[in-house]
Amino acid sequence: MKKLVVLGGGESGIGTAILGKQKGYEVFVSDKGRIAKKYKDVLIHLGVDWEEEGHTEARILQADLVMKSPGIPDKVALVKALLEQGTPVISEIEFAAKYTDATIIGITGSNGKTTTTMLTYHILKEAGLNVGMAGNIGDSFAKMVAEEQYEYYVLEISSFQLDGIRDFKPHIAIITNISEDHLDRYEYKFENYIASKFRIAENQREEDFFIYDADDEVTVSWLKDHPVRPQMLPFSIEKKLQQGAWLEKENIRIKTNENTIDMKNEALALEGKHNLKNTMAAATVAKLVSIRKETIRQSIQNFQGAPHRLEKVLKIHHVQYINDSKATNVNATYYALDSMSGPTIWIVGGIDKGNDYKSLMPLVREKVKAIICLGVDNSKIVETFGNAVDLVVETVAMQEAVKVAYKISERGDTVLLSPACASFDLFNNYEDRGNQFKEAVKNL
Ligand code: ADP
Repeated sequence: MKKLVVLGGGESGIGTAILGKQKGYEVFVSDKGRIAKKYKDVLIHLGVDWEEEGHTEARILQADLVMKSPGIPDKVALVKALLEQGTPVISEIEFAAKYTDATIIGITGSNGKTTTTMLTYHILKEAGLNVGMAGNIGDSFAKMVAEEQYEYYVLEISSFQLDGIRDFKPHIAIITNISEDHLDRYEYKFENYIASKFRIAENQREEDFFIYDADDEVTVSWLKDHPVRPQMLPFSIEKKLQQGAWLEKENIRIKTNENTIDMKNEALALEGKHNLKNTMAAATVAKLVSIRKETIRQSIQNFQGAPHRLEKVLKIHHVQYINDSKATNVNATYYALDSMSGPTIWIVGGIDKGNDYKSLMPLVREKVKAIICLGVDNSKIVETFGNAVDLVVETVAMQEAVKVAYKISERGDTVLLSPACASFDLFNNYEDRGNQFKEAVKNL
């Protein structure tokens, strides 16, 4: 029996254990930390060996194949040792994709992955296709491959998942955009991170498709020097294109090889230029899998956005409160500020990942009337924007931040939580931060 070792007992690890067992591997799951009870129960039920709070190296080094969870960096000694002795170390998507013939739509990028994944899935599902959604979002892909018979998969894929591929080949790949993020995992070299994202296309062939943002300089200039094989379908909100998706008067025009469709742009459910881009990408996929224009249009209109992404919470005394807690980097916040139409009270801060706030300055000068810092260390924000905005207030708790916002807001204002930072100084994660925001707003 071939030995499969699974490093990391989280969602992707347990999914891989389920599929590995089903395919006849002798599976061993090893986690340096604790494994959650719900996952342990699955392993016990499966009869799979596991350990927690440490790795038995001798046993792990005997593996024929290792699946490493995306959270574990390559530089960990154990992983290095495996690679040095020539043991293949792969990611969950690499492992699972081998066991399905389904058409795979793989979505990566720095921002907009979840939104684009959910929207694409929504359109395909509304059209009646037999489709599953997995990857970074929700259930494990491997588990679905083991238990379901989908004909299509829409996968949200992080660069960490792509670092562990060899043959993985989506029929349709999307890179939503690329901006600096997670550089700590890429030796602080932006080009390493870009290369990692582009691995989504490395095994694609001429009959496959590659969808990307033609307005994104990073993507476009990389493509010039590193061409890819699949058919290119760019999208743009700035210029007209030959192929792909762009704006033609009030319409979104989508042109793939076979034909062209136009859709009215004004009726989109999601606001903001970035969501127009996400919608273009998702609609291009829909067109490629031959969904009718009417169905695409309807499902785009009735899509409920993902929570914590420019999520409208409440309007109180004509002040709109918006939760964009998922904006954990500057680029995401850029789009949030860009989509604000009136005076904005901006709640920002948290753990700074080496942010360069310069790109936000014009939008802040134009739209932001007050900044409420919400973080343990706000010095950089205060320093950067202190002179650009009349009022900068520091807070260290969500309730306090929301109360201040409420006090200083006037009819017609928007209160926007879009932190541009990670949440771990004051919150468990971005969901916790967003939920606390919504709670505080509801209690006003
Ligand atoms: P991801 O899964 O890549 O983190 P999300 O869809 O969860 O992306 O969105 C993360 C944040 O980025 C949100 O604040 C959202 O409003 C913003 N965002 C969404 N799409 C884009 C885009 N195409 N470009 C820039 N920012 C975006």
